[in-house]
Amino acid sequence: MTSSSTFDICVLPGDGIGVEVIAATLPLLERVAQGAPFSFRFGEHPAGAQHFRASGEALPRDTLEAARRADAILFGAMGWPEIRYADGTEIAPQLDLRVELDLYAGVRPARAIPGVRLPLADPRAKDIDLVVVRESTEGLFASRGKGVIEGDREARDTMVITRRGSERVHDFAFKLAQQRQQRGRPGIVTCVDKANVFVSMAFFRKIFDERAAAFPDIEARHHYIDATALDLVRKPWTFDVLVTENMFGDILSDQTAALVGGMGMAPSADVGDRHGLFQPCHGSAPDIAGQGKANPTATILSAALMLDWLADRHAMPPLAAAARRIEAAVDAVFASRRIVPYEFGGHDGTAAIAAAIASNL
Ligand code: ATP
Repeated sequence: MTSSSTFDICVLPGDGIGVEVIAATLPLLERVAQGAPFSFRFGEHPAGAQHFRASGEALPRDTLEAARRADAILFGAMGWPEIRYADGTEIAPQLDLRVELDLYAGVRPARAIPGVRLPLADPRAKDIDLVVVRESTEGLFASRGKGVIEGDREARDTMVITRRGSERVHDFAFKLAQQRQQRGRPGIVTCVDKANVFVSMAFFRKIFDERAAAFPDIEARHHYIDATALDLVRKPWTFDVLVTENMFGDILSDQTAALVGGMGMAPSADVGDRHGLFQPCHGSAPDIAGQGKANPTATILSAALMLDWLADRHAMPPLAAAARRIEAAVDAVFASRRIVPYEFGGHDGTAAIAAAIASNL
């Protein structure tokens, strides 16, 4: 924050529909700031696969420094199937940002929005309101760029679980459950692991149990990853906060996004002790890029998460009130059933959805 509650937002639109959904979201942030005791200064910076193709750099140093300096980062999507590093891996500056800025908690809420058709027929599916907290700096992703292939015979990637990494992500999950409890959620954290097979996972669970003792008001549960995949289809409404290793969280959060409608509805936040990056769960979606068909709701809800995070950090309730306004406007649009995104077989694209949400603010 620079002066009189003006927040510097580092905007990284990236590739494909990332550019489109960010363009749809910024005017809504301007709108909620009108007449409010806060304002935003948006600074757009290059990064991503197309920028890599043009310049040879996926995450320029200036962009990284701008992200470091900003009060928060709003991110579209990055990556493009045909544009890759020489070793064949995808361009994914979002992974570098997580490490560089120590964004250890990947927060992936999945809430059933009234009016959005859900894939589960069970009427209790309307009660889905859960958050996957994905450890984002270690786990199996610690092996990114370090895997080994031996003589075309064997490949190896190594899972890393540290005490520090686990303690902080578990604490984050318990505190999140406490905050949600104040809004009527049951106050349950489920540690999702494979502690019956891997020592790394047993260690993750042991630290979870240690930290649980510091949060006696929150119920601590364990669930194996395979059983969790099953129960997220059978009875997802029984979950509140789930905390898990990086790779498991990567997979589960796509599953939970599908439970509440699809990728275009799923927001996310990558948060550390000093920095926060807010982005939709989806990627650059090359199949629909440039057609105006992307659903911007996930990005708009990610912007609301950003407002909540800023509200908390700067003790500014009006920012949280603006987040609630955005969520209420999204809910009103879908509850009216007048807007049906292409994603759900309808004919409403990025501009129409953003305009409908704006008119409900
Ligand atoms: P990444 O690996 O970069 O996260 P991905 O390969 O999982 O990306 P996405 O880019 O998220 O893939 O796209 C997956 C599917 O979801 C595609 O068919 C895409 O068109 C669709 N999709 C993703 N985001 C949206 C959106 N905002 N609106 C509509 N459809 C979307």
